[in-house]
Amino acid sequence: MLETTASSSSQNLNRPPPLPIRAQRGPVLRTRSWRTEGLLRMLENVLEVAERPDDLIVYAALGKAARDWPSFHRIVAALKTLPDDRTLLVQSGKPIAVFPTHADAPRVLMANSNLVGRWATPEHFYALEKKGLICWGGLTAGPWQYIGFQGVLQGTYETFAAVARDHFDAEDLHGRWVVTSGLGGMSAAQPLAVTLLDGVALIAEVDGARARAKVEAHLCDEATEDLDAAIDRALAARECGRARSIAWIGNVIDLHDRLLQRDMLPDVITDMTSAHDALFGYQPADMTLAEAETLRRRDPDRMVNLARDSMVRHVKQLLEYKRRGQVVFDYGNNLRSQARDHGFPDGFQFGVFTELYLRPLFCQGIGPFRWVALSGDPADLAFTDDLVATLYDSNRRLKRWFGVARSKVPMQGLPARTAWLGHGERTEVALRINQAVADGQLSGPIAFSRDQMDAAAMAHPNIMTENLLDGSDAVADWPLLNGLLNAVCGADLVALHQGGGGYAGYSASSGVTIIADGSATAAMRIQRTMNADTGLGILRYADAGYSLAGETGSTAHERGDFESLQPLPRGESGHHGGSR
Ligand code: NAD
Repeated sequence: MLETTASSSSQNLNRPPPLPIRAQRGPVLRTRSWRTEGLLRMLENVLEVAERPDDLIVYAALGKAARDWPSFHRIVAALKTLPDDRTLLVQSGKPIAVFPTHADAPRVLMANSNLVGRWATPEHFYALEKKGLICWGGLTAGPWQYIGFQGVLQGTYETFAAVARDHFDAEDLHGRWVVTSGLGGMSAAQPLAVTLLDGVALIAEVDGARARAKVEAHLCDEATEDLDAAIDRALAARECGRARSIAWIGNVIDLHDRLLQRDMLPDVITDMTSAHDALFGYQPADMTLAEAETLRRRDPDRMVNLARDSMVRHVKQLLEYKRRGQVVFDYGNNLRSQARDHGFPDGFQFGVFTELYLRPLFCQGIGPFRWVALSGDPADLAFTDDLVATLYDSNRRLKRWFGVARSKVPMQGLPARTAWLGHGERTEVALRINQAVADGQLSGPIAFSRDQMDAAAMAHPNIMTENLLDGSDAVADWPLLNGLLNAVCGADLVALHQGGGGYAGYSASSGVTIIADGSATAAMRIQRTMNADTGLGILRYADAGYSLAGETGSTAHERGDFESLQPLPRGESGHHGGSR
């Protein structure tokens, strides 16, 4: 029997539900089990914390939770009636059908914005999107895993902490100033991450309303339209060693022009505009927001061209800082690729944050793990925080993060925590929490998930897998194997993604969610899925020749976590991770 979800109809299908959308809290289920209720709450939650919920856009310019409102309503309707032996299929944010499967199978399988190689270009993507045939799920919007800025905050925090360690031989950024841009969904994590590390951040954000909203949300300390005042305040804060973040409302190109003109050299320079999307994500220089909006509608090709002209200027400015000896890195927004595709390839003279700072963590299966208290009860989160902090009390990196996260990170949406845990650690944490749910120590189940920017989960030659030792940067088999393996291990949701919008053709990745509802079957599915998810990550980097991954993999192999059929690189035969 095959049930099609396309037949469900309602006169309000084209309209959003009453806004703002808020994820259901409390013990009442609207579905047949916590597995589907948990996924429904995760869907509601990404819209609760979304940048533009009325358009279903969660973050990163165009990353959507569902293709359109009819699709959203049909997904909700399908989840509400889905038995625990069926699987809902979602294609680029549109529900297609419910198939009879089995109790250990995922309840939801998704494929979002996957295009055949030669057609995987922004032009094809937008043409298909215009026809309503595809949508981009970002990394965590489409599979309903986004938890607001906390997720990206920890990654940003880990990155800047590694910058401090690698370049300044310090545990934090005290007395250093960072210049960057973007105060959007993910980029707004930058000022907070830098000040949490005791540094000074000066951030250009072209959209005044966004900048002020981030100040109101306490993510940034202040915002001003006065360029020289912004620079002077940043310098003054650095001078007296005070942690401070200052948003300058304007185009980042003007900020760099002025800094270079005044010969003011920040310690660290990066960028987090949505440069991956030349049409919607990047504001060209010498143009107002209103002018850009009009041009976008009237002449999208010219808009893209002007945005790319500006990106070339932007990359040249960053190279000038590098030439003068400053720390410059790419923050994974495809700025260098856009400039290269527009005739200026030199941006690749500076590296990308993943290769430079995060790869040694990925080699150990350590990555952006997260969990969400589906009850909505902050006490449930506090319980899990205590449990994890106690378990890993001797881990300085985690301890420092937990101190910061618990005291300084405001909650958005359902209570959630992100913690970069490694192979074995994630399994242990999720199993203990599942047992706590079973024992009634929590008032509801916990959903475990992660960002797709994880060891096995992403191939992205300009972000995640740039400059791999064996040159396998563009091999996309790993995220596919990762998704397949997680599905057969019994995750509750598995998603296979490729880049959409300006990212079309640049990445392949997979996402996973698993609900700890306290049952014995959940424990088995958790054990299998978590072990496979991080185990494959280690093997991916071992296969590329990293000795740190080989050493972690050998221990896991000996413990019986998997049977490696490849020789694992050790010591001198491999490379430790990090930059070549
Ligand atoms: P967003 O679109 O919500 O925010 C980007 C911000 O940049 C917007 O507020 C926009 O007004 C501003 N902006 C655009 N052009 C500008 C210009 N010329 N000068 C000043 N401000 C400008 O996107 P986001 O969610 O913040 O993500 C930003 C980028 O970072 C995306 O490309 C995303 O894919 C990338 N990224 C981030 C990470 C990470 O870990 N942080 C990882 C991978 C990719």
